Amino acid sequence: MVTSASPATDSVAPAPVAPVATGLDGSPFESQSDRLSPNRNLAPLSARLDGLGRMEVGGCLLSDLARTYGTPLYVLDETTLRTTCRAYRQALAAHYPGEALALYASKANSSLAITALVASEGLGLDAVSAGELLTALQGGMPAERIVFHGNNKSAEELQLAIDRGVSVVLDNWNDIALLSDLAAERPGAVRVLVRFTPGIECHTHEYIRTGHLDSKFGFDPDQLEAVLRHLAGCPWARVDGLHAHIGSQIFELEPHRDLAAVMADALALARSLGHPCGDLNVGGGLGIRYVGSDDPPSIQEWVQVVGGAVAEACGQRQLVLPRLLCEPGRSLVATAGLTLYMLGSRKDIPGLRTYLSVDGGMSDNPRPITYQSQYTAVLADRPLAEATETVTVAGKHCESGDVLLHDVRLPQTTPGEVLAVFATGAYNAAMGSNYNRIPRPAAVLVHDGVAEVVQRREQPEDLLRYDVLPHRLLPVS
Ligand SMILES: *Cc1c(COP(=O)(O)O)cnc(C)c1O
Repeated sequence: MVTSASPATDSVAPAPVAPVATGLDGSPFESQSDRLSPNRNLAPLSARLDGLGRMEVGGCLLSDLARTYGTPLYVLDETTLRTTCRAYRQALAAHYPGEALALYASKANSSLAITALVASEGLGLDAVSAGELLTALQGGMPAERIVFHGNNKSAEELQLAIDRGVSVVLDNWNDIALLSDLAAERPGAVRVLVRFTPGIECHTHEYIRTGHLDSKFGFDPDQLEAVLRHLAGCPWARVDGLHAHIGSQIFELEPHRDLAAVMADALALARSLGHPCGDLNVGGGLGIRYVGSDDPPSIQEWVQVVGGAVAEACGQRQLVLPRLLCEPGRSLVATAGLTLYMLGSRKDIPGLRTYLSVDGGMSDNPRPITYQSQYTAVLADRPLAEATETVTVAGKHCESGDVLLHDVRLPQTTPGEVLAVFATGAYNAAMGSNYNRIPRPAAVLVHDGVAEVVQRREQPEDLLRYDVLPHRLLPVS
């Protein structure tokens, strides 16, 4: 498919991008609005074709990256990442009359490099484990811009958070009991937010819905008043705000509008009980385009609806405007990333299916087998070549369900060609595993023709580091 390059109107946007094929339906996916909102663009923003029609990202030829760093390889485009951060910042400034801060939900892809990038763009971050918290702190995210989440935080994790001055999102009574013990031994109050389940349904996969009442996350709304009354009597806690999150990969705007009203009611209640509650954290959830037919709202539309609804709901209740926090994860990093694989074996089952196997699969991208997720792929060196056959791209793991792309259209391929799968920047590396003792891929950050390794490739020997062979099991010689 071919689209004309559009001029950049935004100081953030890079030079015009050459056309890229989707490999699926041939439909254009790159309009000007998509470029300002990278969650609507399948390929990274800096994707373009060189003189031979081969695909480059960040000025680096993809097939060169595959040769130099090996495959599978995660490629992260700095331009897309920064553009997305700025899109959130600018939209919040434009569409919310109060203060606002976007916090990167780092579970989507947690690394020192992404943290440093996001921090340098002025965003905050949310972390849900000691590992994510340490990554954030070491990556240079200021502690006062971090919130710590989790539905089953350990005492050690809570200790780390409060020692480092990170605010804690209270999810349940166990958090309150653990924190009150830890906080009793120190001066000053711990800054907390209270998470509750807003009772809002949205249409996304069952496993990634969190806002309906039957969810493990947050206090039941019926309990919120009792929790807030209890905390009013806890000198160790300073209730800085409320939190709710309704789910992920959401294309509808209405649930976010409804959420604002529910949260404004809760804010009025909390403030009436004497809590400062200057922050309202509406979570994340904005979806992205994985395949040409996906049509998520833009970041600007999402922020406009959320910001407008919060301002309106607070106005109706005569509440002083809170600082608006949101927690984009997927929409911030997904389309900045792509994964390169090398094509290997082929199996033709006449009249049934053709399997093309790649050198990765469910260990580097568990989303298809977990959520039946769809992706878009092109051949790195001939993305515009005419698709002539329908194939199923399978991984190399011992699992029939290890399929990355079902029934996609591709040109005739040969083993050794490099396949680029788009929009793998979120919940791929982060959810990856070592199934079949397959080492984790490297990740490179590309920008202006330079590629830098930001995560080294694991080696098979690395996987033995934590194995212990009891002496009595040693073979006797
Ligand atoms: C997962 C999660 C997010 C991010 O969700 P996305 O859909 O990736 O934007 C934000 N906040 C909380 C509490 C989460 O659990």
